[in-house]
Amino acid sequence: MRKIYALLKQYVLASILLFIATIVIYSCKKDKGSSINQDSKEIIADAKSYFEQKILNKSLRIPNDPNFRHSIIKKPVWSRSVIRKISLGDAVVVPIVFDEDIFTMDKDDAYKSFLSRTSYLMIYKDKKENMHAEWVTLLNIKVKKNRNEHFSGIAVIEEWNGTFKKAFAFDGLGNYEKMSSSSSITRQQISYSRFITCVTIPHYSTITVGGISTSSFRGSETFCYGSFENSGDEGGNGSTYGYGHSGGEQQDEEVDPSNYLLYFIDCNGDIDGSAIIDDNCGCIQGNTGIQSCADITDKIKNKCLDSVWIKVKDTLNNKIANILNNTFNTSDKINFKIVDGNIDGGYSAKTEVVTDKVNSDGIHIFDVKVTLNKNTLPSASQEFIATTMVHEIMHAYFDSQKTYYTQQFQQHRNMAENYIDDLKNAVQAIYSSLDDKAAYALILNGFGDIFKNDLTYWNSLVSKYDLDTAQIINIRDDHKTHNSGTKTACSQ
Ligand SMILES: [Zn+2]
Repeated sequence: MRKIYALLKQYVLASILLFIATIVIYSCKKDKGSSINQDSKEIIADAKSYFEQKILNKSLRIPNDPNFRHSIIKKPVWSRSVIRKISLGDAVVVPIVFDEDIFTMDKDDAYKSFLSRTSYLMIYKDKKENMHAEWVTLLNIKVKKNRNEHFSGIAVIEEWNGTFKKAFAFDGLGNYEKMSSSSSITRQQISYSRFITCVTIPHYSTITVGGISTSSFRGSETFCYGSFENSGDEGGNGSTYGYGHSGGEQQDEEVDPSNYLLYFIDCNGDIDGSAIIDDNCGCIQGNTGIQSCADITDKIKNKCLDSVWIKVKDTLNNKIANILNNTFNTSDKINFKIVDGNIDGGYSAKTEVVTDKVNSDGIHIFDVKVTLNKNTLPSASQEFIATTMVHEIMHAYFDSQKTYYTQQFQQHRNMAENYIDDLKNAVQAIYSSLDDKAAYALILNGFGDIFKNDLTYWNSLVSKYDLDTAQIINIRDDHKTHNSGTKTACSQ
């Protein structure tokens, strides 16, 4: 690790010196408007068929390719493609997803930059109407906290199979410098290494063992300054490495390097989104549902869900409300947010840890987000909705305490053993007409994975409350379809 940081330090120093020394003048390339009257769907469809017919099937793997990043299975997500104006006209930009969550980190390890947010396929036509498909990877050295920040790192442009085309280092001030892939430097050239400054970018993935997540080094790649591909002068004196651009002979088909930075996915995962990374509380604004680093924030758009949430958080004389307030309302570094949105798989709600890190000053920053299913939950009874909310509060609490961190099944067992009456009392504090049997049934219904994974334990658990599985399902369904309980305005 030290070596990597030394290299990064060297990179920063070298880049500052180089960018001061180099004055770059690029000719302004006007958009020729080659795509008049072609609507965006058509442009994307053209790009897709070009890619699938001309690129995908003909992309043979590079033999003995040592690059770790190239080895991860990837695919373009056409449904999320966007059109961007580049120096040559319209370009189709297609996000790429990878089979593994690989990331680079800031120098101080504070923020991760996921490859799936900084990699895309760019398809465009040159002035001769020839199509090009380029795999663009933005390797962050310093993670962009919002889209207005300049990119600091290396933009690598490759063919789909990883064959190196070009790379540029951006200094975070809007300047750039051409780079080479280290594998493109020949043995002969390496003997002149005193003229070469290289940057090594390490890649990581997260490994979770026993609830503790760590970043695990997976591989690295190295890029060097200079225009090595033009150096055919074997016995030369090294002057061919010139730090400038390759002789100023940019061809017409070349995309202006800064065009590769037009694509940005914010920390919430939205293309061109306006969420920003706040040093104190992580990803906020944009579509995160959180506007500032307040402690407990809610941005539930559905009125029926929101009205229940107001009751849950304002009914303070119960243990779950105390847990919520004592955990999340006492430090502006430990935050809880609740929103409504789409959830796959028919689940009523989910809880996710959004930020969990220790700052360089030793302060623990923790952000947890509860999402309520806006499609299914509003029409359930208020008792059912409130039960769901207190259940998710417990997950958020456990995660904040590192109690079976993000392990749903174990957290359910913990809830089942220690908190059932507290959960029941919290809901009955709001809905006093809810009888014990129904209240217990709704609480137990939240532990479906205990039923699935440990039937013996489940049966002994439910019998403690004079219930069986069929009764729980009946009560649950009556509340879900608002036959029982307090209707919401959405239940009609
Ligand atoms: Zn749960």
